[in-house]
Amino acid sequence: MARIIDISRDENLALAEGRRLLVAGELVAIPTETVYGLAGDATDGAAIQKIYAAKNRPAFNPLICHMADLAMAERYADFSPLARELAEAFWPGPLTLVLPLKPDAGIAPAATAGLRTVAVRVPRGFAGRLIAEADRPLAAPSANRSGRLSPTTAQHVEADLGDRLELIIDAGPSIVGVESTILKVEDDTITLLRPGGIPAEAVERLTGFDIVRPAMSGAIEAPGMMASHYAPDAAVRLNATHVEPGEALILFGAPEVGNAEGAHVTLQLSETGDTAEAASRLYDVMKQADQSGATSIAVTPIPHDGIGEAINDRLARAAAPRPEDNA
Ligand code: AMP
Ligand code: MG
Repeated sequence: MARIIDISRDENLALAEGRRLLVAGELVAIPTETVYGLAGDATDGAAIQKIYAAKNRPAFNPLICHMADLAMAERYADFSPLARELAEAFWPGPLTLVLPLKPDAGIAPAATAGLRTVAVRVPRGFAGRLIAEADRPLAAPSANRSGRLSPTTAQHVEADLGDRLELIIDAGPSIVGVESTILKVEDDTITLLRPGGIPAEAVERLTGFDIVRPAMSGAIEAPGMMASHYAPDAAVRLNATHVEPGEALILFGAPEVGNAEGAHVTLQLSETGDTAEAASRLYDVMKQADQSGATSIAVTPIPHDGIGEAINDRLARAAAPRPEDNA
């Protein structure tokens, strides 16, 4: 099983051990402000293959390349003035930009799934310091097996992937709790590939552009865009106003819920109805509901504004028909 190093005990050890393994082409699970990532050297094709294998991730799904700062990102991607404006406003932070790739700069082709674009982001906190220490971009998809709920604690990573990597770096629960917002930036067009930690409205306010939202059923540009993703074992039922016998109940605030006392277990995303708190608790609460043994999870309505759009996106994918349902 993986060794766990807690950065609150010894951050220098976490940096040194993380760097040593990453430079040697090994994988390390790292904390970011969004969710925990399964990191490997983005310039090392063999390390990238290990990421796909550990997650059982289809090879056509490109990875986000995490950078220490804008200067590092500019070595690997072409920034238009609009892309630079977004980076300067939101980095470090939960915003990923899909930009033209500088093809000879050294990103392993497998990291971009052979595309001529690259997804880049500068994470906050420890992850940024580790990237600077390792002095190379890190590809880091969420540290879970493909299609499952993302990890927001080191313990989630250990349970899902602990037998597939050597080191997990623990920085406590992820602050944001849902994945980054992914924007594709072309000329004056900004397309929302995935809602996430930076509200789309904040991007529209900054730039003055309306964001283009592609239909959910369109061609897959991001694995997070596949209909069923982020899924627990139990079935998920959204906008619930009552509880079916034996269902787990996930509350947002204090709505009226019929047969609430019949719930197998009741969990709360945010007592005060705060969407940021709900996002930070979402995956842990979903995992708890799943592990309660309930065969179905009922979730009460969550407002759609701000980070609520990302929460509702993840819940819709958790509730979507699963591939095995179509067999
Ligand atoms: P994950 O790391 O699993 O949170 O997902 C990373 C997301 O970035 C995926 O949904 C990718 O498909 C998306 N992504 C990465 N690179 C590209 C790219 N070049 N074009 C479009 N989407 C991308
Ligand atoms: Mg993921």
